[in-house]
Amino acid sequence: MSLSHPGGPGQNCTRFHRTFTLPAAASLSALPVQTRGAARVFRPLSARRPRAIATPNSQVVASCSGTTLGRDNKKSMQNTYNGLELPKDGQPIQYSNGQFEVPDHPIIPFIEGDGTGRDIWKASRRVFDAAVEKAYGGRRAIQWFEIFAGEKAFRQFGTWLPDDSVAAARDLRVSIKGPLTTPVGGGIRSLNVALRQILDLYACVRPVKYYQGVPSPVKHPEQLDIVIFRENTEDVYAGIEFKEGSADAARLIDFINNELLQGAKKKVRADSGVGIKPISIFATKRLVRYAIRAALEAGRKTVTLVHKGNIQKFTEGAFREWGYEVAREEFRDQTVTERESWILGNVEANPDITVEANAALIEPGLEMASQTYRDGVYAEVKAVLDSIGQSHGKGAWKTKVLINDRIADSIFQQIILRPADYSVLATTNLNGDYISDAAAAQVGGLGIAPGANIGDGFAVFEATHGTAPKYADKDMINPGSVILSGVMLLEFIGWKEAARLIEHSLEKTILQKFVTYDFERQTAGATKVGTSEFATRIIGNL
Ligand code: NAP
Repeated sequence: MSLSHPGGPGQNCTRFHRTFTLPAAASLSALPVQTRGAARVFRPLSARRPRAIATPNSQVVASCSGTTLGRDNKKSMQNTYNGLELPKDGQPIQYSNGQFEVPDHPIIPFIEGDGTGRDIWKASRRVFDAAVEKAYGGRRAIQWFEIFAGEKAFRQFGTWLPDDSVAAARDLRVSIKGPLTTPVGGGIRSLNVALRQILDLYACVRPVKYYQGVPSPVKHPEQLDIVIFRENTEDVYAGIEFKEGSADAARLIDFINNELLQGAKKKVRADSGVGIKPISIFATKRLVRYAIRAALEAGRKTVTLVHKGNIQKFTEGAFREWGYEVAREEFRDQTVTERESWILGNVEANPDITVEANAALIEPGLEMASQTYRDGVYAEVKAVLDSIGQSHGKGAWKTKVLINDRIADSIFQQIILRPADYSVLATTNLNGDYISDAAAAQVGGLGIAPGANIGDGFAVFEATHGTAPKYADKDMINPGSVILSGVMLLEFIGWKEAARLIEHSLEKTILQKFVTYDFERQTAGATKVGTSEFATRIIGNL
């Protein structure tokens, strides 16, 4: 059965008064694969071009063992982790010189997860194994290796995140996890955040697309087919906060009010909690670079920088500026910014147009601006025509990836009202958190929302939802998110045939109306099945 995306393949849509043809709906996380001998070799997107900036992150030292992240793993593998021996029939995925090598029997660590994670993982693993067997007839198989985190780890080892679990995720490179409880009453603030920080998993990748038969609150859920790239290391995830009433909060407020804001009317109230929101050039550029490269690889035609730069100019606004810089400086031949497309389009519509008239079209009301401002826009128009008039003019820009930007609040209505206009969103941490849940709701909700956290040399795949504890061990919950996270993993390691099989049979099972409670309550005539039976039916449909 083939997936159908009426809003995607070959569909013409009007965008900003220009007409584009959307590419065929891209797979969940298309990454190119080369074959080297028996092993599959691929380079992660971020490794494919030399870094433009020094990479302090590649020298981050893992807290668990004092070894350097991002190094080759060939020399440092342990035989056991948490007292468990590595599977004898498997080999680790290797990473050297920016390339992954995937053997036919890769050892892939999994964290079962807390609460409903237990039911979901058991069901999902059966689906993965059956699809790989069906696709490769025994030539390939995943050797699963359990690593412990969360409640299970706490019960067995007295710690929420054993050093060996982090070491295994690091040494074995590519892993998958179920949702983890956030421990209450102190300890690690969030296990998920800890894993992301230790492995420097800087890109949270969340594809959002529609599978036929899934109940949706919107009229045309099939028109939404986007991948969200959410910066994963700073903004609110930097976790720099000071509690109201604490000595540190008082010192910081005093410094801000009496040093930084000296003489200004603006003041921070003394009874405030304070959070710091860092947005750096380094983290912004590597995230946007990754998103643009992924768009190019997957044939997606737009990358939208989502920000709140109208209010927070030096953080969110800077994210926008640095994002455009990456596009212009590193992907000049393959991209066109929205303003550049307007300038070039104006010349195509009227080859004799003057720089001044062109500027007036791209900046309505320009005639009322100051001379300095007007001169700036004239200079911009001239610079665009001088630099890319030849290479991108005469319609050539229409074949490039369009880089545009949207204010965060506007994108929420845009993806509902004009979903087909968007393809890849690159955004800061908090914006990405909100947008990905809202977008997921349009195509069926958290039960079917996969994700991945990617760094240079590491990847951890995980569902977007939490542990949903009220359904724990009831064999009720929808395993779709973890199953689709596994689809992303299979694509990431280049096992695309198995990935496609799972997607097709998941969709077929939903169309047959055998669904878990969350879909059943919204689907007329559906039969409610448990987590395990849903997986069994997917396997039957492979
Ligand atoms: P949650 O676990 O995501 O569950 C909230 C609600 O979402 C559920 O009650 C259920 O709604 C729906 N839902 C979630 N997963 C579903 C699935 N697989 N199938 C169908 N419906 C699903 O959020 P929470 O209750 O706020 O968080 C519980 C715990 O999870 C907390 O400890 C939190 O810290 C942790 N958490 C972990 C992660 C992670 O590990 N990545 C992420 C988020 C939260 P209905 O009741 O309406 O059916």
